[in-house]
Amino acid sequence: MSIKQILVTGATGKTGSIVYQKLQQDPNFEVKGFARSPEKAQELFGSTENFYFGDIKDRESLTEAMRGCQALVILTSAAPKMVAPPNPGERLQFEYTADGTPELVDYQGQKNQIDTAIAAGIQQIVLVGSMGGTNENHPLNMMGNGKILIWKRKAEEYLVNSGISYTIIRAGGLLDQPGGVRKLLVGDNDELLLNPPDDIPTSIPRADVAEIVVQALKEPSAINKAFDLMSYPEADAESITQDFAALFAQTTAAKF
Ligand code: NAP
Repeated sequence: MSIKQILVTGATGKTGSIVYQKLQQDPNFEVKGFARSPEKAQELFGSTENFYFGDIKDRESLTEAMRGCQALVILTSAAPKMVAPPNPGERLQFEYTADGTPELVDYQGQKNQIDTAIAAGIQQIVLVGSMGGTNENHPLNMMGNGKILIWKRKAEEYLVNSGISYTIIRAGGLLDQPGGVRKLLVGDNDELLLNPPDDIPTSIPRADVAEIVVQALKEPSAINKAFDLMSYPEADAESITQDFAALFAQTTAAKF
């Protein structure tokens, strides 16, 4: 395999930064990062070398970063903020900033990334999204009335219809726990969310999601696939997922 140049957007995010680090350490790849904040990149990586700064709502700032890349990893996301600490007995309330709504960030911002990538001659996009998108009434859609999962799913559809090679990873609840110590599970269109095997939590460490992103850039069997991803709790050594080609072989093209 010749060395591939990859751009990771959301590279200062919790999962994006792990993907960036994994790709930095892998001799098969040269990685570039796209982020909003030079200070955050400097703090996380000790340097801003190979970083491009801008906003995914601004296509021009993406163009320069994508030049020369063969693949794009999309790890950007809108993030709701708590309105105010709740009084006892009250529900938590969330809101999005006017320029950080899911429609602008998860739909328009992802569409900008897909269009710019195609114009730049990029051949593959790996997109990390979320389980739950088949349910309009999912609690995440209600947060700040942002309909975040609906906008994420619309962006997934746009990606699939664009014709570029894609891998869509719809993660379960993200955990800040060690990767590489669990059996991973793939599923289709929220089936696992509705019927998790053995009633296990529908969650997965961010480090495992990041590893799947890296493997999707290597394994041809991950091309043109969309799948939900979660994990069993920590497994005994022989159950830990190591054969990623076999995992991707269980997945299918996106169905909306
Ligand atoms: P995260 O830490 O919130 O990272 C999101 C990244 O997007 C940040 O780096 C942020 O930049 C960047 N970003 C936001 N708006 C931007 C803009 N306008 N221009 C450029 N960059 C922008 O994400 P995460 O928690 O690792 O989640 C990764 C993905 O998994 C997301 O799509 C998320 O929805 C999905 N997911 C999350 C959960 C969960 O339990 N949290 C569950 C399932 C799926 P800054 O670094 O400057 O803030």
